Amino acid sequence: MRKTKIISTLGPASDSDEVLDQLIRSGTDVFRLNMSHAKHDWVRDIIPRIRSLSEKSGKFVAVLMDLQGPSIRTGDLSDSLQLKEGDLCELCLGDAEPCMENSTSVNYPGLAEDLSIGDIVLVDNGVIQLKVMELADDRISCTVLTDGVLGSRRHINLPGINVRLPALTENDMTDAMLAAEMSIDFLGLSFAREAAHIEELRVAVEQAGSRAQIIAKIEDQQAMKHLDEIILASDVVMVARGDLGIEVNIEELPLVQRRIVRKCIKLGRRVIVATHMLESMLDSPLPTRAEVTDVANAVYEQADAVMLSGETSIGQYPVKSVELLDRITTRNELVGANFAEAAALKTHKQKTVKAAVVLANSIPGCKIAVFTKRGVMANYVSNLRPNEAHIYAFSEDVQVLRHLCLNRAVTGVRAKFSNDAEETVARGVDELKRRGFAEEGESVIVLSDVLGGEFVQDSIHLREIE
Ligand code: PEP
Repeated sequence: MRKTKIISTLGPASDSDEVLDQLIRSGTDVFRLNMSHAKHDWVRDIIPRIRSLSEKSGKFVAVLMDLQGPSIRTGDLSDSLQLKEGDLCELCLGDAEPCMENSTSVNYPGLAEDLSIGDIVLVDNGVIQLKVMELADDRISCTVLTDGVLGSRRHINLPGINVRLPALTENDMTDAMLAAEMSIDFLGLSFAREAAHIEELRVAVEQAGSRAQIIAKIEDQQAMKHLDEIILASDVVMVARGDLGIEVNIEELPLVQRRIVRKCIKLGRRVIVATHMLESMLDSPLPTRAEVTDVANAVYEQADAVMLSGETSIGQYPVKSVELLDRITTRNELVGANFAEAAALKTHKQKTVKAAVVLANSIPGCKIAVFTKRGVMANYVSNLRPNEAHIYAFSEDVQVLRHLCLNRAVTGVRAKFSNDAEETVARGVDELKRRGFAEEGESVIVLSDVLGGEFVQDSIHLREIE
């Protein structure tokens, strides 16, 4: 059984019931809605369809709403600018009128305050490089360092520069309210740069009555400076390699990815490796060898999940991309970096879980069954990355089961807990047999913090399936 979870971004290539169903059946665990493009009507339409198809397929599938965040963009242009090395180019702030031929506006009025003479401004995924020559309150004059065509609304990156953008825009807040209305499972915060940004979103989400878990997208050097505090403030972390690969020197990216994955496992948070995993499958039925090896690397690092973006949202082969990701991840899970050796074990509960994982690692073919109310104990088990044992998480709470869709090696199973501990476990084991997850004669390690009826106790026991 595959341990690494798969996230598929939805878009025009994948929003029909037929393709959604195929994406679920070929291995998608979480669907991502990218709010840089998605409209509210579309979200309201697609969520009930995802839920209904997930129920029909008998598989829990979660939904992640990825907020656009405070991205800096150039403005609308009636004609693209043909920029040549050595040209002068101007970025106008607020309502400033253009003063030169190569001129465009920028949506962040505070940009000049964050920049210094000599800073580099990257436009359109780093394709166009500009060097800051003069700063005024209402405009920034730059020299063009690379030839390029500047179109409308191009994304700006400022590597190594501390920008004072807010954590969330008004649009993000409106989107987060929609997420609450639709009981969305995960909210992605783009450009999270410090823990306070996550906390701001968490307060808003909780006030709206939502139980969405928060995914901090690590996209720049500011976030890397505050990595530990961001990881601890969030529920999940995403290595958002699209922007990160522009904001740090490109040769640093593999090291940065490994550092984030290692830290997340150490601090007990789930981690997603995202972007360009199978990029060539946008228009090819087969990935490149390098992409296959990149996916295998994320699997080796034992990330919880890998994510597809354009491959499933606008690509020609959305279902094939998920099928390929399923095959590559499954085949490459036998050995891992085992960063979990250094996982912090602070509480008695974490230490109990560690004992269960050590036990599981000593019994070939054994399974772990964890009975969990809020998902906390299941998170702990998954975070310790058992070598072989798959984790079956039993919960009465459907949203907890959807949250567990992102945990490595966890399969969620809906359960009804009884006050009689033995009855709860027996029902669980029967369900494992009925669904073909376990067979007579196999060992199951049962872990629970809910089995005491009136009182809560952490317990481990080992039983043989009869
Ligand atoms: C990324 O930059 O890698 C990413 C996932 O974010 P987005 O797709 O929102 O740019």
